[in-house]
Amino acid sequence: MRGAKHLAEETHDLAIIGAGCAGLSLAARLADISPHLKIVLIDPRQTFEDDRTWCFWSAGNTPVEHLIDKRWQSWRFSNVEGRAITHHAELSQYACVRAERFYKSTLHRIENAGFQLRLGETVRELALDADRVRLLIGEDRVLARNVVDTRTPPHITAKLFQVFSGVEVETEIDRFELGQAGLMEDMGCDEYGFHFTYTLPFSSRRALIEFTRFSPIAMSATSLDSQLQALLAQRGLNRARILRREYGVLPMGQVIEPPSKDPRWVRAGAGAGALRSATGYGFLRIQNWAEACAASMARGGPPLAQQPEPPLRAWLDAVFLSALTKQPTSAADYFLRMARALTPDAFARFMSDAARSRDLAHLMTALPPMPFLSAAARVGLKGFA
Ligand SMILES: Cc1cc2nc3c(=O)[nH]c(=O)nc-3n(C[C@H](O)[C@H](O)[C@H](O)COP(=O)(O)OP(=O)(O)OC[C@H]3O[C@@H](n4cnc5c(N)ncnc54)[C@H](O)[C@@H]3O)c2cc1C
Repeated sequence: MRGAKHLAEETHDLAIIGAGCAGLSLAARLADISPHLKIVLIDPRQTFEDDRTWCFWSAGNTPVEHLIDKRWQSWRFSNVEGRAITHHAELSQYACVRAERFYKSTLHRIENAGFQLRLGETVRELALDADRVRLLIGEDRVLARNVVDTRTPPHITAKLFQVFSGVEVETEIDRFELGQAGLMEDMGCDEYGFHFTYTLPFSSRRALIEFTRFSPIAMSATSLDSQLQALLAQRGLNRARILRREYGVLPMGQVIEPPSKDPRWVRAGAGAGALRSATGYGFLRIQNWAEACAASMARGGPPLAQQPEPPLRAWLDAVFLSALTKQPTSAADYFLRMARALTPDAFARFMSDAARSRDLAHLMTALPPMPFLSAAARVGLKGFA
């Protein structure tokens, strides 16, 4: 780092690397409860686009209730042969936060607190000195007492990738059933693996429709184009007005870099393992981490890292992923069995890391024993302490 221009000599209480979901969630929470802290966020992005919808199950007590745009009490599973199961929950709802609203709210709170947001800048190097952490950004350097690092690695190794490409469409006549989200519809398997459709109806004339695959490779949006077009045609939506596009690649069973041993430099977000291996969901975990991390810092404590998966859940997810990878033709059957075995609220608990022992027992007895015993034997006791 020799030769770096020393433009900003002040020492920040915290530097947050990455102003995505995790970085902004933490900064906005600190802006609410500790606005006196000196905080800088650094991100190479120049703008914040309405590029995604974050969904999760809520029983009305999540840290982001004020940001929820739409809730569904009911969600549906079906396979290509026409078998279908619909969940109508009593306590939980499938909830959606739109990126546009999330970015607007978090950026507003961060600006009000006077935190520094350095966009269009990339952290190139990080060095831990005896008393401070130094970040090299271009020719400039930033000094901080602590660093929360939310960078996602450029190359991710994972067992499977959940890749999806979709469009939010608007129609001229009423087309969508409002009260129900299509969680995993038309599940099937082709030569590229397991696939399904995801539908979020925002109004009777506006919905997000996504074609999703579980694939051993991180496929591009273009490679999903023909399936997305076929899906829109099948639903009679190929002439609907396209409002925006959404594409994502979520690692399932991601290999996580070992955490730093220095408590001043902690990792969080998707790059630190926030996404659940078996599902790709991570938004609520990131919100819960941001709450806990901000509370620790507000008490004068250290920043907290994203917590690793508890060993039992990590092992169960690894077994499930192994069974899915080995036999993608059976994946639709496994998901339908899960949906039938659990009550809607138990399913929501399972998806929100709050499954009870009874929920897990129901799940295990519902799944076919042979493929899962073989998967358990393949996974062994790795990672199961
Ligand atoms: C389209 C899409 C839809 C999703 N939907 C859901 C959902 O419905 N439910 C759910 O639970 N999860 C969902 N996820 C998964 C997960 O919640 C998101 O990926 C979430 O954005 C992860 O937050 P993050 O902060 O870890 O990563 P990001 O939001 O990707 O932020 C990481 C930031 O780090 C920055 N960065 C990278 N390199 C550097 C560097 N060298 N210096 C500084 N900054 C750097 C990046 O520019 C980026 O802004 C979705 C993901 C995608 C892509």
